[in-house]
Amino acid sequence: MSMDITFLGTGSAYPSPHRGASALVLRTEGECWLFDCGEGTQTQLMKSAIRASKITKVFISHLHGDHFFGLPGLLCTLSLSCSPHGDQEGPHIEVYGPQGLRNFLRVALQISRSDLLLTYAVHELEPSREQSPCTGHLDPALTTSSPQLHPQERPGRTVHLDPDSDCYSLVHDQRFVVQAFQLYHRVPSFGFAVQERERPGRLKVELLKELGVNPGPLYGRLKNGQSVTLDSGRLLRPEEVLEPAVRGRKRINRRWHQKRIIRRWHQKRIIRRWHQKRINRRWASEEDKQEVASEEDKQEVASEEDKQEVTIRRG
Ligand SMILES: [Zn+2]
Repeated sequence: MSMDITFLGTGSAYPSPHRGASALVLRTEGECWLFDCGEGTQTQLMKSAIRASKITKVFISHLHGDHFFGLPGLLCTLSLSCSPHGDQEGPHIEVYGPQGLRNFLRVALQISRSDLLLTYAVHELEPSREQSPCTGHLDPALTTSSPQLHPQERPGRTVHLDPDSDCYSLVHDQRFVVQAFQLYHRVPSFGFAVQERERPGRLKVELLKELGVNPGPLYGRLKNGQSVTLDSGRLLRPEEVLEPAVRGRKRINRRWHQKRIIRRWHQKRIIRRWHQKRINRRWASEEDKQEVASEEDKQEVASEEDKQEVTIRRG
């Protein structure tokens, strides 16, 4: 199965005519998944060889504008390329991202009176308090959306952190498993790991010919893991004629996972610097000052724990 990644934008907060805001497409057979959708993503798509109409899932890492301001416009443009489909629903897009994304998208589409010829659902990831400084968490009033959905919106779910795997389970289909994990940033932020499922090994064609099995539907059934009964009455099991299974590829996650380890290692230092900066600017609250003091007390112990964790993971 083909699988490739296209970087549509790596310009972060400073896009330029030659470098778009954050966006990346994972393309597999039949569909494309978009990771982040900064402003201008739709024009970057037009410049690429990717067919925007193949986008079925969108994953937003965090709610800083350079990672999601392009989403309402992209949905509207995708809708323009849909043809009216009578009573039947058109294409459907699943959107995954932090809490607040559902409300943002709903309000943006409602205020702009955007009627879509496609449907969408937003699945929100619930962040934890220690995932960012307290100033990075949204006011609950902004994340609580009205019960009335946009006409083309379908109900989405709230995804909670699985304490056993320390991940958010997002997608489980026949080909892939997609999980999200927490990253440390000024606002709640998530990385995504796409794991391809194990694929059956190749058929041992020579052996099959020796057994009198010619290419045809039986090959497909054996490849799909089904046993078949030959004309001779013999039951042929797939494990007899299949090479060892092919391990699924794991794209995207490695660098992000390393990033998470590095971020964890520096997490306490980042918190301290963040609050110290505010104090230096003389607009810190008492809470900030106390947090810096308590972080300094803990620093010695914490840094030893972090070093041990990194040593274990490197091993
Ligand atoms: Zn950011």
